[in-house]
Amino acid sequence: MRLADARRDHYRKLAKDQGYRSRAAYKLKQLDDSYHLLKRNYRVVDIGCAPGGWVQVAAKQVGAAGRVVGIDLKAVEPVAGATILEGSIDDPAAIAKIVEELGERADVVLSDLAPNVSGMWEVDHARQIDLTRSALALARQVLRGGGSAVFKVFEGEFMKELKGEMAASFGKVLVSKPTASRQESSELYLVCLNFAKN
Ligand code: SAM
Repeated sequence: MRLADARRDHYRKLAKDQGYRSRAAYKLKQLDDSYHLLKRNYRVVDIGCAPGGWVQVAAKQVGAAGRVVGIDLKAVEPVAGATILEGSIDDPAAIAKIVEELGERADVVLSDLAPNVSGMWEVDHARQIDLTRSALALARQVLRGGGSAVFKVFEGEFMKELKGEMAASFGKVLVSKPTASRQESSELYLVCLNFAKN
């Protein structure tokens, strides 16, 4: 078995054993271990949250007095302690609903958004960057000063420009590749710290 397959199987088995809905849950856990993003009582928005692995991790970390609001195009089975909306990050009505559910500004915005992949690399990369730009716009709208965000990006020619846009709003933007992310995949996570609210 190739190392990449063995690693994928490892996280799939771990997710099954530990009750997480996706292998992706371990990417967020590893990012959180490194950057301490999720704290007790925090308000968190999770964009592109189906099937809900990240929501499970976030809900556990923020505890009963925190709040997690997830959104996805697809329906998601309920997660205890979280509110999950069905809709698109590009839809102003869905964004208004997120803001309403949050009640107050968010401490953390998470985005693991991925488009339906066409197989044409340049198209998929451009679509993913466009989606992530919408996630960045939402983060700017809802984050508190000093808040953090994590955005998945497909590495490619438009990433640098988007990273620059993030750097205009955050004190620090770090590039991270958790070990739970397949090494051969082009996905990276941009960890944005210390949001500067206008
Ligand atoms: N983090 C999730 C987990 O741990 O279970 C996995 C997320 S999955 C990789 C990416 C998600 O982005 C898909 O479920 C997809 O439906 C969602 N997505 C794509 N475009 C979207 C959009 N415009 N609005 C909301 N969600 C979207």
